[in-house]
Amino acid sequence: MPNGGPDNCSTCGFNRRNRGIWRNPLPDEGQTSFCEIRSISVLMDHFTYCQNWHSHTRKPIGPIYASGLYDGGYRRIPWNSAIEPEQGVSGVCHECAAVFADGLQIAVVERAPLQFCSNLHYMQWWQRQNPDEQAPMSEGIWEH
Ligand code: SF4
Ligand SMILES: [Zn+2]
Repeated sequence: MPNGGPDNCSTCGFNRRNRGIWRNPLPDEGQTSFCEIRSISVLMDHFTYCQNWHSHTRKPIGPIYASGLYDGGYRRIPWNSAIEPEQGVSGVCHECAAVFADGLQIAVVERAPLQFCSNLHYMQWWQRQNPDEQAPMSEGIWEH
């Protein structure tokens, strides 16, 4: 299994499967992963992250993150509000028009999904959509 970090939703105490216990060795297998503080289902719980895993505080801090493209290391990219970006798609980049075979895409309202050739180009788009937000778990991407 690719390892984007152990601090993911599957081990988070705010995932209702874990009943308040971080790294719960006996999660409630009868529950699907659901974030109690952000009220969202987490389908890819081993590959989804946020700062509250570390803070243990209930007020959401910053965005939720998905695993981005592997790029000199495992990368995390923010969701766009409640919309999760997907990876492993082919297409044409919304930012630079490059044709790519293994990139990112995200659903948008009443249009075809937007596609990106790289984590960086996704981040540039995301930052324009969310000018007042910061995504500290994605910081390394800007340096690439
Ligand atoms: S989104 Fe954050 S707070 Fe919610 S389950 Fe995942 S890591 Fe925990
Ligand atoms: Zn691009």
